Amino acid sequence: MLGNMAATPIHKMNMRLNGNDIFMKRDDLIPFSFGGNKARKASLYFKDLESHKSDCVVTYGSSSSNHCRIVANLTASKGLKCIIISPIETSKVTYNSKMMELFGAEIIKCKVSDVKETIESTLIRLTEEGYKPYFIEGGGHGNLGTKAYVEAYEEIKMFELDNNIHFDYIFHTSGTGTTQAGLVCGKLINRDDRQIIGISNARKNPYGGQVVLDSVNSYLENIGHVGVGLDEINFIDDYVLDGYGAYNNEIIDVIKNVLMIEGIPLATTYTGKGFWGMKEYIKENHITGKNILFIQTGGTPLFFDDLEVLVND
Ligand SMILES: *Cc1c(COP(=O)(O)O)cnc(C)c1O
Repeated sequence: MLGNMAATPIHKMNMRLNGNDIFMKRDDLIPFSFGGNKARKASLYFKDLESHKSDCVVTYGSSSSNHCRIVANLTASKGLKCIIISPIETSKVTYNSKMMELFGAEIIKCKVSDVKETIESTLIRLTEEGYKPYFIEGGGHGNLGTKAYVEAYEEIKMFELDNNIHFDYIFHTSGTGTTQAGLVCGKLINRDDRQIIGISNARKNPYGGQVVLDSVNSYLENIGHVGVGLDEINFIDDYVLDGYGAYNNEIIDVIKNVLMIEGIPLATTYTGKGFWGMKEYIKENHITGKNILFIQTGGTPLFFDDLEVLVND
């Protein structure tokens, strides 16, 4: 299944933006649980979990979390217990939350301010009950999550070699920053000349960019590579609007357009916002005549949550 996954497809889009060729890497097509970057990260965490012989997974995320859906699906497929700590503040029913329920995950709701405590007490309780719990940070954040995107970067390199092409820019939506950290590490390890641009969907600088940098340096330190500074991180916070989940009519139009012309679903929270942010960034920075790669990082169930809005707009 996920273990020795083939590289996800990269294809040229029909549309051009500001005189640039746009390509898309389809991580939404990773063949497990609707794919996405959380599937790529989770595959490495589950390999690690199996080497620890854990029998139970504890993780954290909201009711709309792609990460929690995938972890719940993976645990169900392996017959392991799954516990999801989830904030009361964002607990509306979504396709992802319905699937978590379907997969039999135990959801523990608490206030955001009590999350850390709740995770700790849950891990202690499980251990006392005789379980061997494995904790995965929200969003699959951590060195293994970063590693997953160093591997994705290598897939991109392979595509370039096979197709005699060079991507001048790689764009994607940045949340916890792990995806971006992996891509930046891949670029640094290979000493490549290109820009990795993370379009933030929620966090603002300096915090957002600092988290990416910390993840980059944590990974590099682990593999014995020298650390880097903030000048290596392009974490763009100009398109977050009012924060997580916020969107505007332009994002809706971009999503409709990409679905209609390319047949590819994007969603407001992550991929649609990131694609719109890329479009604006290219324009504002007068980028033209380049090869640009956008990574479709998944979240297909969120597209269906949005469908009503797309139709009624
Ligand atoms: C989580 C997520 C992101 C952001 O990835 P990070 O590694 O947290 O920055 C982007 N797109 C989708 C669809 C996601 O679910």
